[in-house]
Amino acid sequence: MPQPQALSALGTFLGQRLSTSKSDLDLHGRSESYFALTPPDAVAYPESTEEVQQILRICHEHGVPVTGWGTGTSLEGHALAVAGGVVVDFRLMDRVLEIRAADMDVAVQPGVTREALNQQLRATGLFFSVDPGANASLGGMAATGASGTTSVRYGTMRDNVLAMQVVLADGRVIRTGGRARKSSAGYDLTGLMVGSEGTLGLITELTLRLHGVPEAVSAGVCAFAGIEDAVNAVLDTIQMGIPVARIEFVDAATAAAFNAYAGTSLPECPHLMLEFHGSPDSVKQDSERFGEIAAEHHGRGFQWSTREEDRRALWAMRHNAYYAILASRPGARALVTDICVPISRLAQAVTETQADLSRASIPGPILGHVGDGNFHSVLLVDPARPEDLAEAKALSHRMVERALDLGGTATGEHGVGLGKLDYMQREHGDGWDVMTTLKQALDPKGILNPGKLVRSPGLSRQ
Ligand SMILES: Cc1cc2nc3c(=O)[nH]c(=O)nc-3n(C[C@H](O)[C@H](O)[C@H](O)COP(=O)(O)OP(=O)(O)OC[C@H]3O[C@@H](n4cnc5c(N)ncnc54)[C@H](O)[C@@H]3O)c2cc1C
Repeated sequence: MPQPQALSALGTFLGQRLSTSKSDLDLHGRSESYFALTPPDAVAYPESTEEVQQILRICHEHGVPVTGWGTGTSLEGHALAVAGGVVVDFRLMDRVLEIRAADMDVAVQPGVTREALNQQLRATGLFFSVDPGANASLGGMAATGASGTTSVRYGTMRDNVLAMQVVLADGRVIRTGGRARKSSAGYDLTGLMVGSEGTLGLITELTLRLHGVPEAVSAGVCAFAGIEDAVNAVLDTIQMGIPVARIEFVDAATAAAFNAYAGTSLPECPHLMLEFHGSPDSVKQDSERFGEIAAEHHGRGFQWSTREEDRRALWAMRHNAYYAILASRPGARALVTDICVPISRLAQAVTETQADLSRASIPGPILGHVGDGNFHSVLLVDPARPEDLAEAKALSHRMVERALDLGGTATGEHGVGLGKLDYMQREHGDGWDVMTTLKQALDPKGILNPGKLVRSPGLSRQ
């Protein structure tokens, strides 16, 4: 049995930082979403690239699966060790290594969270823009190709990771990309690693693009009579080139969940939440232009403000949407869908989804980063009722099929993990085989996060 030998070799150099306690295994076996508890055999807490390298060398030699772990907030079971083995938790690699304000970039270890990075950037006049609803780790965000409310203006992780240090399955350490803002030197290995979900290597350092804190910011909320009006207002705003920094949609059920969870008093109807970045004059002008568009689409009570406390309250409410929705059905778990379609097909995708959800017996509030054509339904299932999960999966399946029919994708930002594996063939065709070939070239023994993203023949436990 190779596993005990591997664990003993790992224990020799990690000491207490290799854990096999039940509580630790359970903590690293649970998902934020609906997946069943899947504890690994051990959890390693490395402190350096050299230790990650040593972990991989040992696991490679013994054929032991290795799964990276940032903060465990991914929603498709990405970080679950479905074939057992070692989970590598990056929480101790949490240093901001170098802020290079003149180049507007920063080098970080993978365990730094997005909020911790922005705290450290406070005095610099710069910020890191990608903001998923959870306070996720930057390594995990790169690995899932995450995005957030500001991606419509500043891009996703794909646009904001400039370079990485990655430890490959056999323990080799490579550097991808560089600090130059452009390069034509060969394959884009950074692009390959972003979104690879820990299946090609473990990220031990990232160089990230930073943005200047805007001189002025305005934010506002607008209520709409119906979903279609709200979505058409988004379409006009984007097509007219109004430079929104955020444009988020929530439906009536989400507005009701906010009211119950955060004590707000939003009318229980669809809303758009917006933010504009620029100079005092430009944000005023942009807000007013949006107000006119909203009025044409029967928007009501659009109010905007440049006061920081108003903005903070608005985005805190938005970032807590998942928990507000979960609280609306006590004891529920969530299956979160994540489709993204071309912006011209957004209204059709949202209205057809809403019609489908209206016939369902489980709740599924809709919200999303609609400026990118990306939205979610948070399908709430009672864990004691298997029929709820079956219904949620059927609704999710129809959403994905709808998105693919409209030229979109099964996942705009959450990633593939376990939940979207079945759609890879349809979405990518032969391209999925190419992904599998790349995986086999870089990880021939298939030890890195087996069971995710590509086909994993011979997986023993799933
Ligand atoms: C309330 C809530 C709101 C959310 N909102 C959004 C949103 O708006 N946008 C969005 O994109 N996502 C969102 N998510 C999903 C989640 O936050 C993102 O997928 C996030 O990027 C996961 O980061 P993590 O640190 O938690 O990674 P984990 O869940 O720990 O891991 C995710 C994947 O990355 C791999 N991994 C982790 N660290 C490394 C590393 N150093 N090297 C290689 N692989 C690694 C893991 O093996 C796994 O496959 C939300 C989740 C929640 C719970």
